[in-house]
Amino acid sequence: MEKKDANIRPRVLLIYTGGTIGMIRNSETGALENFDFAHLLDQVPELRRFDYDISTYTFQPPIDSSDMGLEHWARLVGIIEKNYTHYDGFVILHGTDTMAFTASALSFMLENLGKPVILTGSQLPIGMLRTDGKENLISAIEIAAARGEDGEPMVPEVCIYFKEKLMRGNRTTKINSEQFNAFRSFNYPVLATAGIQIRYNTQAIRRPDPASPFRAHYLVDPNVVVLTLFPGIQQSLVHAVLNIPGLKAVVLRTFGAGNAPQLKWLKEELKAASESGILVVNITQCQSGSVHMGLYETSLPLLDAGVVSGYDSTPECAITKLMFLLGHKLPLPRLREMMNSNLAGEITKD
Ligand code: ASP
Repeated sequence: MEKKDANIRPRVLLIYTGGTIGMIRNSETGALENFDFAHLLDQVPELRRFDYDISTYTFQPPIDSSDMGLEHWARLVGIIEKNYTHYDGFVILHGTDTMAFTASALSFMLENLGKPVILTGSQLPIGMLRTDGKENLISAIEIAAARGEDGEPMVPEVCIYFKEKLMRGNRTTKINSEQFNAFRSFNYPVLATAGIQIRYNTQAIRRPDPASPFRAHYLVDPNVVVLTLFPGIQQSLVHAVLNIPGLKAVVLRTFGAGNAPQLKWLKEELKAASESGILVVNITQCQSGSVHMGLYETSLPLLDAGVVSGYDSTPECAITKLMFLLGHKLPLPRLREMMNSNLAGEITKD
């Protein structure tokens, strides 16, 4: 492999989509406003101390991440694909509310990624005195630019950096709406921790396949639904959900290690859905741990009904992985096989 020159100034593209981080208090009116990222270096002068080339790209208008949709994911993929060879790494500033969905979706849409794509944001606007935004932004940029001794990027993955932790994007969940420690990766170790130094957990970091190219994907299909089981759930509700016109896949949030009530009608409804071509994926309602179908009697009917295991997938990841795979219009057996495969480090198969 060609050895890269580690002395060239790293180039980072900072993409601002919106969210709390990009707000600043207008000194005259006192109101919070989106700040102009073209003047980023004026607002965060600390960035000048990096010897990096930092360019910025701003969504016009910036959006609250609750409004993030499939078209925005495709837009981000387009920006990264267009600029892929020109930059060493990418930082995406994003509202925290749906950041885990975007990170999960991008991990599939940017296949065989060889460069860091680091999402970050903040709980307090960057213009506020106690903001967490500056540390998140500065460390995310440093991680996006970091190279090993061989000149290769330290973390060629889609990640979320938040409150001193770098996490694999498709393993994250937003866990707190108030504290700075807003994200957790319950089922996979952190990829790096930022203290006095940034310490990388190199064994946990995924590397691209050198024999395959980077490929950007744009097609995603939103015909997915999440169905959460609860004691007392009624057949009419399950029937209505499984018969939504155009529905192609269901993320079924079960109990514990993937268990469901042993109701005859539930098995029949799920079986009918599977037979009509709808893929049902079993993930647990527990934040931590995995589905083990067949471990308890209460999950056997699900296996019989054609439900596939989502292993230790987060809900955000199961939903976006299905959207990504459905976008490829795969036949059902292939779709089942792909849901059972580890595509971007998103599941742990024992
Ligand atoms: N509502 C905001 C958003 O997700 C919250 C944040 O930025 O943290 O866009």
